[in-house]
Amino acid sequence: MIDAFARIVDATGILTGGDIGPRYLNTRGHGVAGTPLCVLRPKTTAEVSEILKLCHARGQSIIAQGGMSGLVGGAAPLGGEVVLSLERMNQIEEFDAEGRTLTTQAGVILQTAHEYCEERGFMLPLDLGARGTATIGGVISTNAGGVRVIRYGMMRESVLGLEAVLADGTIISSMNKMLKNNAGYDLKHLFIGSEGTLGVVTRAVCRLRPKPKSVNTAFVGIDHFDDVVAFLGFLEGALGGELGSFEVMWGAYDQFVRERCPSLRPPLESGHGFYVLIETLGNDPTADSAKLEGLLAEVMDRKLIVDAALAQSEQQRAAFWAIRENAGEGFRTLGPMCTYDVSMPIKAMGTFGIRVTDSINAAFQGATTLVLGHMGDGNLHVVAAVGSGSPEIHKQINDIVYGVIRDLGGSISAEHGIGTEKKDYLSWSRSAEEIALMRALKHTLDPKGILNPGKVI
Ligand code: ZN
Repeated sequence: MIDAFARIVDATGILTGGDIGPRYLNTRGHGVAGTPLCVLRPKTTAEVSEILKLCHARGQSIIAQGGMSGLVGGAAPLGGEVVLSLERMNQIEEFDAEGRTLTTQAGVILQTAHEYCEERGFMLPLDLGARGTATIGGVISTNAGGVRVIRYGMMRESVLGLEAVLADGTIISSMNKMLKNNAGYDLKHLFIGSEGTLGVVTRAVCRLRPKPKSVNTAFVGIDHFDDVVAFLGFLEGALGGELGSFEVMWGAYDQFVRERCPSLRPPLESGHGFYVLIETLGNDPTADSAKLEGLLAEVMDRKLIVDAALAQSEQQRAAFWAIRENAGEGFRTLGPMCTYDVSMPIKAMGTFGIRVTDSINAAFQGATTLVLGHMGDGNLHVVAAVGSGSPEIHKQINDIVYGVIRDLGGSISAEHGIGTEKKDYLSWSRSAEEIALMRALKHTLDPKGILNPGKVI
């Protein structure tokens, strides 16, 4: 097999044995990776097709990898697979200002695409903490979400067309550039969010938006959960679609930041029940800041919010976002963590936060439970640190968090996907009929089960 692969890719396109670096084995804390047969690093779709044809003929399992920033073990090898890294397919192919599209290969880093578009007055709206490592193909394959979903939707909404290679090597070129195209089934959606189990995304046409001319960011303190919900509703109504982010951190997270993250500087007093990071994306640099300030004053008068700070510089804005995104120094002091990504109706989030925190604290003395997330999207993250974080403890916490989610009619994955981490719980959020249809699709597209086996379903 290795000899056959070596005839498809160039000499630096194949890695074996000790040359397989940690990048390709990153499980992001979900167990230890297995040893892959080899790592292949193709440069073209034709090479990907040849590789898959060979794997299909031999029944050889294969895993597509992007930037390896996924959080559910979806791209980590289990052992014996071919790793197909798209990292060298990193060319931006076309920028179309009139059509507002960007055509790229799958391995382009998200931040590279951001910077390329911004230099030309446009934005690719999908944005998340891992922007410096995540790739276009990766955020498509996982239908990533992040911090701008309330305004622009998840990655699915920014994909107009794509090219994917099927398990048998067939190239499906669906590089549509139009906003509207109802000519039969919209096949791209099979490959968006299916975590590399139905095909390998090799190229994409992304939808761009005009770059906002003004960005205003505020940090807000609120005492009661019902007021957070009312504040969100108020802003969505008053801002006419300009609300770009609505990130909520429960009070325990603020305490954690103050105690464990000495490099972060919370702009408000401690002790509020909730902290909200909001950002507006507008087009009037002179008026937008005053408008947001006026709205915050209005809700403060109405006692909906109790404190607020408006960023006065890009540096301050970065400091606000750092509290939400850069608490790594604190997390490292917690030891092993179990992290969750769940969604639910917004009005259920108050109950969720209380029930999860109380249940974990009741089951484990000295547990740290933090709740935060993209509340405007119905998406929360939970970080739970309990002692050794052994597999038994991890399963107990899974059962608590996903049990509450099942009771509330939510989803065990809002934006991270299923991978290996949540596979055992898929039936807690999907019906038997839904899972049966997923299996039927999988069998049709990948009859030999060679694409990312052991993941998702
Ligand atoms: Zn998130």
